[in-house]
Amino acid sequence: MEKVVIIGSGCAGLTAALYAARANLKPLVLTGRQPGGLLTTTSVVENFPGFPEGVEGYELMVRMQKQAERFGAIIKFGTVEAADLSRQPFVLTVDGERVEAETLIVASGAGHRHLGLESEHKLENKGVTYCATCDGALPMFRNQPLVVVGGGDSACEEAMYLTRFASVVHLVHRRDTLRASPIMAERTLAHPKIKPIWNSAVSEVLDVSLDKVTAVRVQNLKTSEATVVNCAGVFVAIGHIPNTGVFKGSLNMDEQGYIVPKHGAATNVPGVFVAGDCADRVYRQAITAAGLGCAAAIEAERYLAARDE
Ligand SMILES: Cc1cc2nc3c(=O)[nH]c(=O)nc-3n(C[C@H](O)[C@H](O)[C@H](O)COP(=O)(O)OP(=O)(O)OC[C@H]3O[C@@H](n4cnc5c(N)ncnc54)[C@H](O)[C@@H]3O)c2cc1C
Repeated sequence: MEKVVIIGSGCAGLTAALYAARANLKPLVLTGRQPGGLLTTTSVVENFPGFPEGVEGYELMVRMQKQAERFGAIIKFGTVEAADLSRQPFVLTVDGERVEAETLIVASGAGHRHLGLESEHKLENKGVTYCATCDGALPMFRNQPLVVVGGGDSACEEAMYLTRFASVVHLVHRRDTLRASPIMAERTLAHPKIKPIWNSAVSEVLDVSLDKVTAVRVQNLKTSEATVVNCAGVFVAIGHIPNTGVFKGSLNMDEQGYIVPKHGAATNVPGVFVAGDCADRVYRQAITAAGLGCAAAIEAERYLAARDE
């Protein structure tokens, strides 16, 4: 039986592993299908403290893994398919195998909703991105026209943030009003650099043949008229999907599936802790995920110590 099982090997999971390993708990980290997490899908990360020149996302995650392993963390390729949290020890089904754990740290992250276009997929990291805070300041987007897709609070926040760098921000939305909160919508539409394109959807990102974003093809959903909007970047902000399906019914979640922590990193199930983007609908950054991973490991260690007293 494992003392600590960490579900996920992104910034949250590997930081939790480092702390739990240094507390001599020999944590078992289950990587899921994306070892290293979301950051391995990006090129340069410029806002992780300690790397003044920036660091490749993949390299940062390899370093985090090595640091955790140095103190005894065990990294295992495996995906949790089911979890029984109704009894102690907790029982996980990992690729068909049974794993028992005294404590769990859920750090399973959240995926981005995609537009579902082949051109979007091909130009990911070549101008198509899902995070303005992460990528907006990159030189390729400076003083260039940019497109944000979406109409909720996140899309408005992304558009507002991008006005610092862009020459103009086209906000493409399927309806003729924003879904965002009234104050956010008002502020967004009042910004002189933000130009809404209503009742429209992006049907293609151009130009796959040049291997970079040069424009988007936008279709008006009412008239079917297609136009081409020149841009250097497309920021897709149509929501996230937390990877929390296996915990439905056992861990408290909000309506979108984010786990709702109970004071700090604890959950409604004693002995189960949570960290990173699967419980964070607000910040969703590498450094916040890492910080929450640290908190979850400290909580797990204290839980085990108190139980064994
Ligand atoms: C393209 C891109 C660029 C980004 N750039 C930046 C940036 O520059 N700076 C920044 O701060 N942030 C950036 N981010 C955001 C950052 O990547 C996330 O905030 C961070 O990765 C969250 O860490 P996490 O550990 O919570 O989740 P994730 O990194 O998503 O890791 C989740 C882990 O859980 C595993 N998992 C999921 N389900 C299961 C399961 N059932 N069983 C076992 N394991 C499971 C996955 O395989 C993965 O290992 C970027 C994101 C993207 C997509």
